[in-house]
Amino acid sequence: MSREDRLKQLDKAHVWHPFTQMSEWTDPLVIERGDGNYLFDTDGNRYFDGVSSLWVTLHGHNHPHINRAITEQLGLLAHSTLLGLANVPSIELAAALVKLAPGALNRVFYSDSGSTAVEIALKQAFQYWRHQGQERPHFAYLDQSYHGDTLGAVGVGGISVFHEVFSPLVRPLDPEMRVATPATFRGGGRQRRGWGECAELSLAALKGLLERRAGEIAAMIVEPVMQGAAGMLSQPAGYLKSVAELCREHGVLLIADEVATGFGRTGRMFACELEGVEPDFLCVAKGLSGGYLPLAATLTTERIFEGFLAPRKDGRTFFHGHTYTGNPLACAAGVASLEVFQRERVMEQLPSKIEHLAGRLASLQRIAQVGEVRQRGLMVGVELVQDDTWRAFPPEAFVGAKVCQEARAEGVILRPLGDVIVMMPPLSASFEELNLMVDAVGSVLRRLFA
Ligand SMILES: *Cc1c(COP(=O)(O)O)cnc(C)c1O
Repeated sequence: MSREDRLKQLDKAHVWHPFTQMSEWTDPLVIERGDGNYLFDTDGNRYFDGVSSLWVTLHGHNHPHINRAITEQLGLLAHSTLLGLANVPSIELAAALVKLAPGALNRVFYSDSGSTAVEIALKQAFQYWRHQGQERPHFAYLDQSYHGDTLGAVGVGGISVFHEVFSPLVRPLDPEMRVATPATFRGGGRQRRGWGECAELSLAALKGLLERRAGEIAAMIVEPVMQGAAGMLSQPAGYLKSVAELCREHGVLLIADEVATGFGRTGRMFACELEGVEPDFLCVAKGLSGGYLPLAATLTTERIFEGFLAPRKDGRTFFHGHTYTGNPLACAAGVASLEVFQRERVMEQLPSKIEHLAGRLASLQRIAQVGEVRQRGLMVGVELVQDDTWRAFPPEAFVGAKVCQEARAEGVILRPLGDVIVMMPPLSASFEELNLMVDAVGSVLRRLFA
């Protein structure tokens, strides 16, 4: 048996893949190597990494500057705990992050994944109010939101296919806290409402909830500008700003979950900047280490931080931490990734890439099965529909999955969300590579629906 076949067989025998119906896991594509914006399988085939290895890779794989930073750190220290000790890279990264973050976020709490970054924000917000003498056990969240897979994050998750099965396990069990998002009002087919009207209806729903129950709500959590896992649902301009204003008016803290949108994806370092929003908490993960190592951070303000300060006996300590919190290798990768932003003038190059991508995506609009194309920066969702009446495909046809599977033959790795084709290329993608990605989808669609 060849080495490739042996690996595939062992994978099928032992590895349980995430978000995957394993009964249909038949012929795994085994990735062995990455270089620049490409992945290589065990047979040596090359693929453009069209989803940044699930939204994490920023500057490409095997990047010399990040590689060197990790290797140098490895020669010094792979891990030491932040419980009772500090370490060099975690200090440097925290100092760099607070400089970049929107608003007055001055304190950094590390963890390992987007889900844990969200758990920490929820727990800190709740405990903050407790120390203010207020019991606020609820969190407002948007319909179709995604904030991670741990139970606290599932409790503020609004995607039924992912979250419904666990509903008996999670709190808050108060259905009122799930606020209709603009997409909730969109409707289907030709009767779709305009996004502006949808946004107003959503804001009215949020206003109503806050007027009735703000005093019980510790915080509102949102994915700013783009609800990623729901299928790249972009919020109309001004929506995020209005959400932030409503929260402030009603004394409810705002948690910005920028796990997906952070680090340049929307064209700004953080999506909150697009609307001048200053959240009370900022959750980052995915791109934080440049896509190299699991690392997350929850940033918050001095006001929240000070709410936890008191003599130890007063019980105000934040009793939360993960074993690998502040891991030096991951933090060294994070520092190096932020240095790459400077060295390669990454942000300066984004506007032209974003515009180029928009132009190329417009060519897809001529295909009858392309419904709405939603783009914010280098985050894109291409919604597939049956025809120009915008009727959805039956879910059991798995059209999105088929398109992405076929795109591999065109040398592009993509992963859909239902019948939305997600494109989230590395920030380092060239014009030619953006063309390759979009054209692959175009030729697959033309072939499938010819
Ligand atoms: C991916 C994601 C998460 C969860 O991050 P993990 O690292 O997978 O736990 C949370 N929030 C948003 C907006 C995400 O896109």
